[in-house]
Amino acid sequence: MKERLYLFDTTLRDGAQTNGVDFTLADKLAIARLLDDLGIDYVEGGYPGANPTDTELFGEARGLKTKFTAFGMTRRPGRSTANDPGLAALLEAKADAICFVAKAWDFHVRVALETTEEENIASIRDSVRAARQKGREVLLDCEHFFDGYKANPQYALACAKAAFDEGARWVVLCDTNGGTLPHEVERIVGAVVKTIPGDHVAIHAHNDTEQAVANSLAAVRAGARQIQGTLNGLGERCGNANLVSIIPTLKLKPEFSGRFDIGVSEAQLKKLAQASHMLDERLNRGSDRYAPYVGENAFATKAGIHASAIAKEPATYEHVAPESVGNRRKVLVSEQAGRSNVLAELERIGIKVGKDDRRITRLLELVKERETIGYAYEAADASFELLARRTLGTVPNYFDVTQFDINVEQRNNAKGERVTVTMAVVKVKVGDDNMISAAEGNGPVNALDLALRKDLGKYQKYIDGLTLTDYRVRILNAGTEAVTRVLIESEDENGERWTTIGVSPNIIDASFQALMDSIVYKLVKSGAPA
Ligand SMILES: [Zn+2]
Repeated sequence: MKERLYLFDTTLRDGAQTNGVDFTLADKLAIARLLDDLGIDYVEGGYPGANPTDTELFGEARGLKTKFTAFGMTRRPGRSTANDPGLAALLEAKADAICFVAKAWDFHVRVALETTEEENIASIRDSVRAARQKGREVLLDCEHFFDGYKANPQYALACAKAAFDEGARWVVLCDTNGGTLPHEVERIVGAVVKTIPGDHVAIHAHNDTEQAVANSLAAVRAGARQIQGTLNGLGERCGNANLVSIIPTLKLKPEFSGRFDIGVSEAQLKKLAQASHMLDERLNRGSDRYAPYVGENAFATKAGIHASAIAKEPATYEHVAPESVGNRRKVLVSEQAGRSNVLAELERIGIKVGKDDRRITRLLELVKERETIGYAYEAADASFELLARRTLGTVPNYFDVTQFDINVEQRNNAKGERVTVTMAVVKVKVGDDNMISAAEGNGPVNALDLALRKDLGKYQKYIDGLTLTDYRVRILNAGTEAVTRVLIESEDENGERWTTIGVSPNIIDASFQALMDSIVYKLVKSGAPA
């Protein structure tokens, strides 16, 4: 019989403290659904009563399976629970659970709260009791628990025990400053579970020594049975414990998977990479390509000898199967690429070709030639695939861009303000049809992209769901002149992503190549007819 381990997500509360992150109500609802679909046991939504977004979020039922949790303060010192508006808002919120935050460090109680140790404990007791009477499941966040425990173990423990005795389902041990190390977490949690049963103890770790994940796992080893964290480790300063790393570790590493069940099924685990990318999408930022488990590079390999071994037996160089978390194996095609890399990559993208086919030699030569002038195919999987398909077989000539023109103009607008206006005009030939599209953009590349994707005639339906998610430019010195390398990341309606590349002395030309590759790649992927 395995023990149940619970997952608590605080992306919407603690994660919202991240510099530059500001969730709208729609963002919060979408992320809550994402977490619910992943099988997270608790989703902390925010502070009802503290701001209009959170008050609205908790204003009505959301129809989620997860326990939607409201966060707020215990009653203020010197007040009764009946006479505290903050507490009243929390008790009124349509939430399945309430998480109270309270001080557990005597120093903070005296200096920050300016009250007595006894009154702090009475406030914890009264607040937990009030929420229990309202029929809510209760959690108590013991702020600064580890620092507090080091300074005064009896008092820190007394705060936690007061909540547990009053019927709190969970006592959350917070490493608020994030400076505690894994061996300290293991020792202190080990001591706590002698007083409070481990299946009522949660860990909330911050990443200030880059050990929030390790601290969470250390707490579980010591007996804690709930882990709190955020998607992609979002959180103020260096972030919170990253659930995207913790979940697969719990599911796939025998030390944990052999002992514990979590609410995330194997099928849900396969959605993890997508969930991680969708959060970045919401935040309008690029995904970390080096992220463990879900990053683009997490299962990428470069050296030829590794690639040939991986083609034979993936387990030789992979600690888990990439598909298990919704990621994929990637063999980098680069200047150092051997035949085996190229063969492995061709097999992955479904191009059948004999090992000794002479066209492989031609493809390798092409890759090397182009990399000499600045292309980097290891970063542009879709452009590599097109190059391979063109060399080894055919890519239909769907359409021709017969002409394009970009005009950038700086002038005064009607209000007399100085503005820069960009307009692109593109002439496209699809079969016998000649089309002309124009678009304004916030810059030349944006205008060109919009005009290019505005009307592709019979192919338009295939590219309607196409969006550009990232655009990166680098100036390189290749040979005698400086050239521009453009990488464009695109995404389609199914959440599939790919990267294309263009290289030219002219930034518009380089961008145009990458944009064209992205569109043609999407048409090939969609099986658009020639
Ligand atoms: Zn926190």
